[in-house]
Amino acid sequence: MKRLTVAVVAMMLALVTSAGAQNYPLKPITIIVPFAAGGPTDALARVLGERMRQSLGQTILVENVTGAGGTLGVARAVHAAPDGYTLSIGHLGTHVVNGAIYPLGFDLVNDFDPVAEISSNPMLIVSKNDVPAKNLKELIAWIKANDGKVSAGTAGVGSGSHFAGVYFEQLIGVKLQFVPYRGTAPALQDLVAGQIDLIVDQASNSLPQVQAGKIRAYGIASTKRVPAAPAVPTVDEAGLPGFHIELWSGIWVPKGTPKDIVAKLNAAVVDALADPAVRKRFAEVGLDVPPRAQQTPEALAAHQQAEVKKWWPMIKAANIKVQ
Ligand code: ASP
Repeated sequence: MKRLTVAVVAMMLALVTSAGAQNYPLKPITIIVPFAAGGPTDALARVLGERMRQSLGQTILVENVTGAGGTLGVARAVHAAPDGYTLSIGHLGTHVVNGAIYPLGFDLVNDFDPVAEISSNPMLIVSKNDVPAKNLKELIAWIKANDGKVSAGTAGVGSGSHFAGVYFEQLIGVKLQFVPYRGTAPALQDLVAGQIDLIVDQASNSLPQVQAGKIRAYGIASTKRVPAAPAVPTVDEAGLPGFHIELWSGIWVPKGTPKDIVAKLNAAVVDALADPAVRKRFAEVGLDVPPRAQQTPEALAAHQQAEVKKWWPMIKAANIKVQ
């Protein structure tokens, strides 16, 4: 009798779950952005969310849960119900690097289910206009002459702008004074206002201010120039060969989210990434869309795992401290 009851309950639960997945989504979906509004991760979430709304028939709300290099927002998402109503957007910093720096209390790879990789974006070295350097070689000479005094804004310890800055320090053999913000949107505001000296920023964040003449760009941290800013040289061309960092971003859901819900979310991301209007907005700020074959949950899982293998030893060797 008892065994029968258990079987009936299990069957009913399975029915309820699959009916839930079939009707999904029945209410707005929240995407947790672990950085400040107006920054590059926030912009990605808003552009994608707007287009995903058309495919899913439900609003995608953006919630900015900021602090601690994005770990607070990621923690909020990982502990949410695995029902497809809470998504985690993040990148190489939040979903790979932070695992080697912070005592997270959860596993970035195993406690999330991947949905899709959405973009990649090279870093760009930018400074306030007052810095007396006109190109990357002059900038490096100026930083060396002021070793330990030059301030660099970041989105917090472990964020893309921080570990790219640490990599930059190591390559040129200097120390920067890192100034942590809750995202690179407020860091960029302070750069434009002349409160800090530089940011190793995502190109998508700072290019509009470079184009407006409010800050100066020195080099794209990639092997190729960004079509949206053809005048900005690559670091290889400008005198810092090999300083390559592409910050790729993705969307995850808490582990245990039903497979058909993940498939619906993936299809909505794929639709959005195929939309010419979305692609145009991405291209304008130097965001690359991964090839269609790379837009699967499996490809995101493989990429995340490969990046853990690649970056964790380097990050641990750099001995980056949270405090
Ligand atoms: N993604 C940025 C970084 O890691 C932060 C942000 O989106 O505001 O530097």
